[in-house]
Amino acid sequence: MFDQSLITKTKQGKTLILAAGLMLVGLGPFIYGFRESVAWLLIGMAIVLLGALIGIAVVGCPSCGTRWVWMALKTQSVNQWLFWLMALSKCPRCGYTV
Ligand SMILES: [Zn+2]
Repeated sequence: MFDQSLITKTKQGKTLILAAGLMLVGLGPFIYGFRESVAWLLIGMAIVLLGALIGIAVVGCPSCGTRWVWMALKTQSVNQWLFWLMALSKCPRCGYTV
């Protein structure tokens, strides 16, 4: 589906899926913690934050180091950033392409 995406071409799709997966997994204890205990709430929050940090800190340009997820979150609207990210065909900063 996203074969032409720069994320896929630079083999960072799995990292992005791992980050999203952690965020989803973290929602379980987070929601459970709302009803049961603060400890579960904090554990869930930590897992969600870890996933978000991996996505923001790791996925980026191999050439100039620009963090694409962070750039997408900063420059695109809430309902557009993921499409913008997955549609990247070259680095918006240095023009790197595969
Ligand atoms: Zn770049």
